Amino acid sequence: MRDRMPQPLLGLEKFDLVRIVTAQGEPPWRASQLYGGLYRARAATLDRIRGLPAALRRALEQDFEVGQPAIEGQFRSADGTVRYLLRLADGQTIETVWMPEPGRDTLCISTQVGCPVDCKFCFTALLGLSRNLTAGEIVGQVLLAAPPQTPRLNIVMMGMGEPLLNLPQVIRATRLLADPEGLGLSPRRITLSTSGITPKIAELGREPVRPKLAVSLNASTEEMRERLMPITRKYKLAGLLEACRAYPLRPWERLSFEYVLLRGVNDSDQDARRVVRLLANLKCMVNLIAFNPGPGIDFQTPSPERVLAFQQILKRSFPCFIRKPRGRDIYAACGQLKRTQESECR
Ligand code: SAH
Ligand code: SF4
Repeated sequence: MRDRMPQPLLGLEKFDLVRIVTAQGEPPWRASQLYGGLYRARAATLDRIRGLPAALRRALEQDFEVGQPAIEGQFRSADGTVRYLLRLADGQTIETVWMPEPGRDTLCISTQVGCPVDCKFCFTALLGLSRNLTAGEIVGQVLLAAPPQTPRLNIVMMGMGEPLLNLPQVIRATRLLADPEGLGLSPRRITLSTSGITPKIAELGREPVRPKLAVSLNASTEEMRERLMPITRKYKLAGLLEACRAYPLRPWERLSFEYVLLRGVNDSDQDARRVVRLLANLKCMVNLIAFNPGPGIDFQTPSPERVLAFQQILKRSFPCFIRKPRGRDIYAACGQLKRTQESECR
């Protein structure tokens, strides 16, 4: 019997695996085999990795396991969206949302269990933070929920959690997702969304392999942003926009801003005009998200006409899109992720 818990291999990079296999007296190229088995072939157990010598496998099994999360529940929406409830090794659960569309598939993944940022319109906020996810748990969501051979796969770190409060693991996960020997996704197809943890934006900008940056703006004045997103008391809107202006965009890149429209709160023409002024001189685009409702949160969704009128004003200055609500019927839409109790899952 083992006297300690097996360590997960998922989340380890190539150089980590080289260290592990050479410690077993194997040549370093065995690490490539292991790496390909974990991230490209998506093996759920070590005995599923082709070509690994039995002696090495047995030796590895003494201390390690693959460490994929388990699918605890699966909820399918009328629009094709699938919300996965995934169970982690310590029993915590997270959510991941698969959104297929002709020509473009998107997987929305979580970066924390719950979230410590207390945004007043968000259901994940009601959970508080349990813990950060490891890089292996972040990548594990992609291995489980994105069908292999999805040529136009986009990953958005917009599920549960604030990615910039878990930056080292988020960056490690991004390297694993982008590595041509692993999942081989272009960093152009990976996006991270933040509520605006200002000092971490500069830190992100210094990473050689990093996702695209999206910032949740959600208000047109400092006062309103503070009311909706109390984190703004610490990280002011002015400083946030300054960090955005200083952010080193790659030649092909544009900043994205998200704006949740709440009826009668932040959705007036005047708000739209203020957003235009705030974002002036930024190479950016804006995604509007009509509030996704649910029990326990008291905001209202604006009318489709109001959303269109808001978009018209922004469109004169930069590209502005309305994010289609996906899977609202199964609570999979933006801001609706909240650990579902087992009794609710069936
Ligand atoms: N923590 C990160 C990413 C997760 S939230 C962030 O806040 O950016 C992803 C997006 O969902 C954010 O833009 C957030 O503003 C939005 N959102 C949160 N609750 C929502 C709700 N109830 N309806 C619509 N969008 C919501
Ligand atoms: Fe956290 Fe984002 Fe929800 Fe705010 S909107 S509570 S940062 S998940």
